[in-house]
Amino acid sequence: MALDPETFSQLRHQVRRFVSERLTPNEDRVEESDEVPIELVAEMKALGLFGLSIPEEYGGLGLSLREEAELCLELGQTSPAFRSVFGTNVGIGSQGILIDGTEEQRLEWLPRIASGEAIFSFALTEPEAGSDAASLRTTARLEGDAYVINGTKRFITNASRAQGFTVMARTNPAEKGASGISAFIVARDSPGITLGKADHKMGQRGTRTCDVYFDNVTVPAANLIGGRPGLGFKTAMKVLDRGRIHMAAVATGTARRLLAMSVAYAAERRQFGQAIIDFQLVQGMLADMQTELFAAEAMVRETARRYDASREDPDPEIPMIAASCKYFATEMVGRAADRAVQIHGGAGYMSEYKVERFYRDVRLLRLYEGTSQILQLVIAKGLKKGLAGPAA
Ligand SMILES: Cc1cc2nc3c(=O)[nH]c(=O)nc-3n(C[C@H](O)[C@H](O)[C@H](O)COP(=O)(O)OP(=O)(O)OC[C@H]3O[C@@H](n4cnc5c(N)ncnc54)[C@H](O)[C@@H]3O)c2cc1C
Repeated sequence: MALDPETFSQLRHQVRRFVSERLTPNEDRVEESDEVPIELVAEMKALGLFGLSIPEEYGGLGLSLREEAELCLELGQTSPAFRSVFGTNVGIGSQGILIDGTEEQRLEWLPRIASGEAIFSFALTEPEAGSDAASLRTTARLEGDAYVINGTKRFITNASRAQGFTVMARTNPAEKGASGISAFIVARDSPGITLGKADHKMGQRGTRTCDVYFDNVTVPAANLIGGRPGLGFKTAMKVLDRGRIHMAAVATGTARRLLAMSVAYAAERRQFGQAIIDFQLVQGMLADMQTELFAAEAMVRETARRYDASREDPDPEIPMIAASCKYFATEMVGRAADRAVQIHGGAGYMSEYKVERFYRDVRLLRLYEGTSQILQLVIAKGLKKGLAGPAA
């Protein structure tokens, strides 16, 4: 599942140009309108961005995670709203079907997801079940050859754009934990689905989240992912392991942009008769940004490489290293955004300078797809199992 190096190099070049020539110049427009322009979405489809991670036999580009991560390092350098339009199709919305779906389910849904014809969302979180996702209350009751779903999902990215959802619901009410949960493919036009009002967020304007309500929604039993009940929580965790490496790469891309803006501003801004980049205390902040960025890039590449290798040869450390990677990269970009504002001084607090916007935008990365605290717990769980213990 990887392109030949020359084809991949051309794709990366195209994506880099798309980011610098089409997306970055439209950042202010997205911020003002809270919308991603429709013509840019069409260009994303033409570039194949909706199907980056989906194998060619299902209509996607079939990138390895290592290649996808390289593109995320590019895509992370502009407003997150752009990536968010296709992000759920590449990651959390499609991967459950790809990883654990039956061949019929893959053939039915993945080509539409890969082309961008269908936007797919991932519906795990609920009002009373966030970090403790295994306590979710949405139910799926088997009636004949269909399941009837009832419950509320919260903060669902792209729900208002979606044609479908992967929904985690409890098929065994007697089993209160993870093993009572199953995953379903649910078409948006199924009777009984309604959406809450759009969430107003701290940042990431142009992205969409809202509640999704399921009121006696009937789903064919054939839409149970993998065809067997009780595996949905495991599917969700596999999806999140992969998604965390993707998000770490996005965070690292954003840190690149923050560093570039900070170096440019520090070289231009003069105080005390000289450019502020010549003050050693400013240099210290820039050097810290560069050092942590370099560390995150190395982590992202190595974690993605190990994830790809684990497809052939299962690697029990993947959940732990994926969590480590997202934890470090997303905390790192938070520090980078803070330093970028500091280097810009008062201007960094003003919305006409983009560091103010990125400062708000990156705050989310430490919250979704596992808060930093949950990632620490995943890492510690791996250590308790004896994984990556002290070198002999
Ligand atoms: C913009 C946005 C988009 C999102 N998109 C999606 C989506 O598409 N699909 C989806 O399913 N979900 C989505 N989410 C939900 C997101 O994954 C959850 O918000 C996240 O998992 C945290 O859950 P919570 O908000 O309920 O916080 P809580 O779980 O209530 O956590 C509150 C605080 O308690 C801490 N905490 C909780 N448990 C522990 C513990 N055991 N030990 C130590 N600290 C702990 C947390 O780290 C956090 O600091 C999205 C959220 C946002 C904000």
